[in-house]
Amino acid sequence: MASRCTRTCLVLNKSVVDSEKEVEPKGPITYEEFNSLPVEKLRGIGDKRKADLEKIGITSLLDLLLTYPRKWVDRTNECRLSDLVPGVEAMVLVEVRSVNKRMTKNRRSLITVVVGDGSARLTLTFFNQPYREKQLREGLTISVFGKAEEYRGSLQMTNPVVDLIGDRTGRIIPIYPQSGEHGIKTWEFAGWIENVLTRSVARGIFDPLSAAELEKIGLVSRNDALRNIHTPDTLATKELARRRLAFDELLRVQLVLVGRKRALERESLGIRHSEGGTLVQSFLSALPFPLTGAQQRVISEIHADMLAGHPMHRLLQGDVGSGKTVVAVASLLTAVEGGYQGALMAPTEVLAEQHSAGVRNLLEGITVHDSANLFGSRPLRVDLLTSRITGEQRREILQGLEEGTIDIVIGTHALIQESVKFRQLGAVVVDEQHRFGVEQRAALRDKSLTGAGGKPIVPDVLVMTATPIPRTAAMTVYGDLDVSVLDELPPGRTPIDTHWASGEADEAMVWAAVREGVAQGQQAYVVCPLIEESEKVEAAAAEDTFQVLSAGELSQCQIGLLHGRMSSTEKEQVMNAFRRNEINVLVATTVIEVGVDVPNATMMVVLDADRFGIAQLHQLRGRVGRGLIASHCWLVTHPKDDALVHEAGPRVEALVGSTDGFELAEIDLELRGAGTLMDADQSGTSDLKLASLRRDRELIELARAVAFDIIENDPTLEEHRALRDEISILLTASNAEFLARN
Ligand code: ADP
Ligand code: MG
Repeated sequence: MASRCTRTCLVLNKSVVDSEKEVEPKGPITYEEFNSLPVEKLRGIGDKRKADLEKIGITSLLDLLLTYPRKWVDRTNECRLSDLVPGVEAMVLVEVRSVNKRMTKNRRSLITVVVGDGSARLTLTFFNQPYREKQLREGLTISVFGKAEEYRGSLQMTNPVVDLIGDRTGRIIPIYPQSGEHGIKTWEFAGWIENVLTRSVARGIFDPLSAAELEKIGLVSRNDALRNIHTPDTLATKELARRRLAFDELLRVQLVLVGRKRALERESLGIRHSEGGTLVQSFLSALPFPLTGAQQRVISEIHADMLAGHPMHRLLQGDVGSGKTVVAVASLLTAVEGGYQGALMAPTEVLAEQHSAGVRNLLEGITVHDSANLFGSRPLRVDLLTSRITGEQRREILQGLEEGTIDIVIGTHALIQESVKFRQLGAVVVDEQHRFGVEQRAALRDKSLTGAGGKPIVPDVLVMTATPIPRTAAMTVYGDLDVSVLDELPPGRTPIDTHWASGEADEAMVWAAVREGVAQGQQAYVVCPLIEESEKVEAAAAEDTFQVLSAGELSQCQIGLLHGRMSSTEKEQVMNAFRRNEINVLVATTVIEVGVDVPNATMMVVLDADRFGIAQLHQLRGRVGRGLIASHCWLVTHPKDDALVHEAGPRVEALVGSTDGFELAEIDLELRGAGTLMDADQSGTSDLKLASLRRDRELIELARAVAFDIIENDPTLEEHRALRDEISILLTASNAEFLARN
């Protein structure tokens, strides 16, 4: 290592290196200090490299230090060429002996590279990668990963993965992200970073956690971690380093989320809803079914929140059909009990209307206390407010809300318009959260009163989602909310049988099954392919399917059509006809995805199912399986013309294999990676380079616990300046903004 240092020796900014010249020795170097040192301070980085680095977002020594290797090659684990087994993947470390270029018959470039390691030779062939000719020079050491095959008596690898090692020594070689575009070689990164690390040995790297704390939670120091992620002696020390640095990433995100949560609790007054009323009790005991254990548990969690002095901000996760509506109504009634109003916001008109009908039904005959009334009580008043409600009717509802004669209002985003004023909004339930943005959530919460000292009195907010996300992922995406889970379905549900249907013969059987079900009085949904780009094209596709089925396979059935381009009145008529079974088969786009509840619908056909995501398929499938008759779901895909074997694809396979939303969410996370959890608020996920929401569950919990400890004693991180700085330097804008407010 020392020899290389003399070769590319460089001089860092004085404050980092010349500690011996300082009158007072400085303490360890913080991220903030590394961040203040531009890359051109490093000898070896001139204007060209500076510009190249800037293109990939690296301008400071901190950026360099936090450019982690993409992988690590362990020389001692490499296979010798003489040990290669045909047909088995292996990694070899070799030297380039010769490079040859020619054209194939159909004018594609073919580069043939002969490599050796002293034990044997191997031929690498690259099709259509003409740049390999320049990249792979004779004498270069490269790491090659691929599957060797016998070819004319010798071994050959076709299009293997190649990493340029340069002339680096040492047992474990870090491989940095490199792309042809900026042309920075992995050994250049390694050289620069190693020099930064070498030069900061004297002062060491600042650790926001004390040695005692680190020991308690079983993590290595940041100083060791940064060295061992870049220049590990063994893969085991590299893994310890990764754990520590991943923890740091998670801690920054959790500090923001926990800080935000605590700030909300601190800065706003909640409503202490009253205890001991009879409204909720009489509602629950009038239900035609007993609550599930999960419903009881979650209702008491919410109840406890609502009785407390700070505003509730809780996420309720519950699979489709787990009975979230009852929980929502119980929460709204807790507010009504003490003379407040409740609001339930749904993402679509269809859903708001359905909720309105369902909730009124549940609340039939329930009365509320009314001192102005001779009999001391009056019927509970529930109203619906959507953009379809206009004129006199709308004015009346707005007035009722302002005067407080409406107890519960159900609606769409129409509820958060300026013109809507409440007398005393006490509780808000937002259904199917993933359809709403964070701002909309906040807007409804902001319909609050002002209390003593000008502090806003914030209503209690319950956010409900039927898209389960794994617990630890929820902690990162929704880390500023408390989480309740309805993890139990009401008894008596018959599980949905899910089948994969592929090709014409299968499809004919699907329609035959639908006809038979309809003949027995059951109903079906047919969901048409999802077309991202345009609601118009999507509607046209649904209309096509409607025509084809009406004229063909399902000509004996009453078929209806539902898509987003229809007017709300049309939609309403179709839905009502479907509820009354005047329509047997509903051909629809994904407008039926959320919340629609028709228990007699027991069949679901999803066309081109491979074009949907797991969460969406699960939502769609949740429309059936709501009654006592066994339900079926057919996921239809079309074999691709050029495919030899037609496969269902991992998403369709997952759906066929499981009806458990949480299990599916785990698979989804596995397949898609973290960044794409949901379309809503992505807090934090893009701030994670090393941490994985999937693999690092236990680290997430640890980071959250540590964040709670820190925020508890130091809510605005006054005494943790270094952490504050790190958050504002490293976290994406929306997260760092939390600090600006504090
Ligand atoms: P989701 O969680 O999908 O919103 P819903 O609240 O719409 O579920 O409930 C689905 C169905 O289950 C409704 O018809 C509802 O009346 C019924 N239900 C809710 N809770 C129970 C229970 N504890 N026992 C039996 N049926 C229930
Ligand atoms: Mg629901």
